[in-house]
Amino acid sequence: MTENNTGRVYLVGAGPGDPELITVRGKALLRRAGAVLYDHLSSVRLLDGVPEDCELIDVGKKSGCHIRSQDDINELLASCAARHETVVRLKGGDPFVFGRGAEETEILRQRKIPYEIVPGVTSAVAVPASFGIPVTSRGSSYGFCVYTAHTREHELPDIDWSHSLKNETAVFLMAVSGISAVVDRMLKHGHSPDLPAAAIESGTLPEGRRITGTLSTICDLAEKHRLRPPAVLVVGHQASVDVRCDYDLLSGCRIAVCGTSSFANRTAEELRLRGAVAEPMPVLRVMHMNMAAGDLDYIRQATWLVFTSSNGVQAFRRNMRERRIDFRMLAGVKIAAVGPGTARTLEDESLYPDFVPQARTADDLAEGLVCRLSGQDRVALVRCREGAPGITQVFDRCRIDYRDIPVYSIASDLRSVNNFSGRADCFDYIVFGSAAGVRAFFEGGAVPGATSVMVCVGSVTQEALASLCGSERKDRVITAPERSAAGIAAAITGDWRERKNEIKTETFADK
Ligand code: SAH
Repeated sequence: MTENNTGRVYLVGAGPGDPELITVRGKALLRRAGAVLYDHLSSVRLLDGVPEDCELIDVGKKSGCHIRSQDDINELLASCAARHETVVRLKGGDPFVFGRGAEETEILRQRKIPYEIVPGVTSAVAVPASFGIPVTSRGSSYGFCVYTAHTREHELPDIDWSHSLKNETAVFLMAVSGISAVVDRMLKHGHSPDLPAAAIESGTLPEGRRITGTLSTICDLAEKHRLRPPAVLVVGHQASVDVRCDYDLLSGCRIAVCGTSSFANRTAEELRLRGAVAEPMPVLRVMHMNMAAGDLDYIRQATWLVFTSSNGVQAFRRNMRERRIDFRMLAGVKIAAVGPGTARTLEDESLYPDFVPQARTADDLAEGLVCRLSGQDRVALVRCREGAPGITQVFDRCRIDYRDIPVYSIASDLRSVNNFSGRADCFDYIVFGSAAGVRAFFEGGAVPGATSVMVCVGSVTQEALASLCGSERKDRVITAPERSAAGIAAAITGDWRERKNEIKTETFADK
């Protein structure tokens, strides 16, 4: 806090939609924010990165029946700055591109509240780019202009409508309701009806769509395909260009990945490596637990430490850190991991597993391990409180000396489920990493899209899906041959090869 006891306000650009497109500085500020004021254009997924006690204020949503006025927002900013050291005002795209950022800095200046401007990736450039339109290009576009399609008075802006677009690109924001007024005005000012035009809805997001035409066709196409906000309109030669990579294994494939955030992020990244648009859907929240004193004593005497998930490794390490226990406690202990993902997390912590089963399931881990054990071994099974019983059944059957040690528990996270509603149809695949993920998804009220294929790993998840997804969807379930992000990617790649030609393409041309 400064001397007069006010915090600092950060006007942060949230980027164009995909939460990965925020700046490094923006993300770091969110991680230490005491309050975040956000609007409907910033991804709710960005809010996953804030501290647990952060005050979250949605200033884009209707409160009662009024949308919050700019004056209300200004007051809120000032009152938050009096209470918190770091206040983030998160705005879609860049704060100064039609973001009313300047109005907010004005009030902060008047009240002498310190502030910083953190630029963002603007939709004016990123949304066309996400659908393969470079706004400049050597030889065909020497520059670009960004306009609003309507002013505060809901009129067209007072600009030079006859400005030639011979070697330039025009990008209009807030383009849905005003599209026909913009196009009429351009035609009236002498632009050719054959000038290429493209409208892009929800760019950088899985539900994104591109409609391509010309000044004479784009309004009809927008109506026919029900163009919805947020959308930009691109006019000029570049609007006919599409430089996206369309020959990757999963190009054009849109996938939601449900599970804990570590599973969802890791799997989504693996899918992106193959060209998919993959969105992590962390429907499960991991809550770290403190190990009981008796459990810790058991671990001190254990000969094997067994991990069945990356979350288990992280929760165990957190327990060690919080109790100021270092690696000396683990001297001489052997370590087992269920699969390569868990093994990688162990390795990130400088712990190198002695055993990772080929088949990567908890049952195989148990069977493989018992062959390696003698009567003197003591096995600490460090895992989720809600872990499946298969592994302990094997240990019981083989009379192994073991202890089931919970280090975290999982619960549904409704925010993520809510973020899915209304967008289900855009996903070609929905991946489930665990039975708990399946339950969080369906019991939270989410419904798969009409053509979405569901992908799961392991028989337990498959059974949960079969019982909850509804009989009409049962034939749209595929099971990955192995329990890893690479296994899931392989299952989807095989299915997508067969399916991609039947799937509607999101690019509508007028030809
Ligand atoms: N400050 C923002 C723009 C705010 S005005 C920026 O720099 O991007 C809001 C307009 O931005 C929307 O009406 C739409 O035209 C555009 N927009 C923002 N996100 C978009 C997206 N993901 N897809 C298409 N248009 C988007």
